[in-house]
Amino acid sequence: MVRPKKHLGQHFLKEPAIAEKIVNSLTNHGEYAQVLEIGPGTGVLTQFLVRKDYQLTVVEIDTESVTYLRENYKEDQFRIISGDFLKMEDGLPEAPFAIIGNFPYNISSQIFFKLLKIRNQVPEVVGMLQKEVAERISSPPGSKVYGILSVLLQAYYDIEYLFTVEPGSFNPPPKVNSGVIRLKRNTTQSLDCNEELFTKLVKQGFQNRRKTLRNALKSLNLPASIIGESILDKRAEQLSVQDFVKLTKDVEEGWKL
Ligand code: SAH
Repeated sequence: MVRPKKHLGQHFLKEPAIAEKIVNSLTNHGEYAQVLEIGPGTGVLTQFLVRKDYQLTVVEIDTESVTYLRENYKEDQFRIISGDFLKMEDGLPEAPFAIIGNFPYNISSQIFFKLLKIRNQVPEVVGMLQKEVAERISSPPGSKVYGILSVLLQAYYDIEYLFTVEPGSFNPPPKVNSGVIRLKRNTTQSLDCNEELFTKLVKQGFQNRRKTLRNALKSLNLPASIIGESILDKRAEQLSVQDFVKLTKDVEEGWKL
């Protein structure tokens, strides 16, 4: 038996029905054959994934869980990578591949920042994470919880909040509720602006989320040509992806003048 290790964010799902529901949330309409599961633990989700027609790879950092999986599943059912998803460069499945998991909550933001880097390989993601982060990522502009990851991810993915899972469904129970979200890659290949500057404006705007953008972005020396624009009276949380794209273009144009 594998004893859950807290520092690895291990909260094993106890209810097979919920695991099955998560696995069935992948909508794949033939866009991919490969699936990568992050953090299979003792295989609660994995047992349902292997029943599907996927070529499955799992990546697990906990060697005890890896040993458990090797002992309890046949080698030809899936490929096991013993290691850290965040450090994975080689060994990712052949693109396109979907990502699924009951993610380790302590690194869920880092998992999504990594997803942004490999977004063109990943058409769909279904993940369970802290409810608060799940809501943040899926919430629209104007909402109090809309933040950096919401903008950056919504630029490339259509995101849905699917359902909530209570702490009592896990061993050991986490302190927070959990939420399952689905991300589907949209058709945006690249943003119609300098993406580095876009990311910088988003990050800096939300670092001072109570301030108007005019104040929040002060240290960037915004060009004089846009300083009177009404968009700068707004706060970062009021801007959609498209608003940030437009702002980025205006700032860049202004600097060139
Ligand atoms: N899917 C299982 C376990 C979820 S708990 C279930 O639903 O029961 C999260 C799992 O992620 C744990 O098994 C933990 O060991 C693993 N994990 C934590 N950090 C990881 C990382 N950086 N890379 C891969 N797996 C990781």
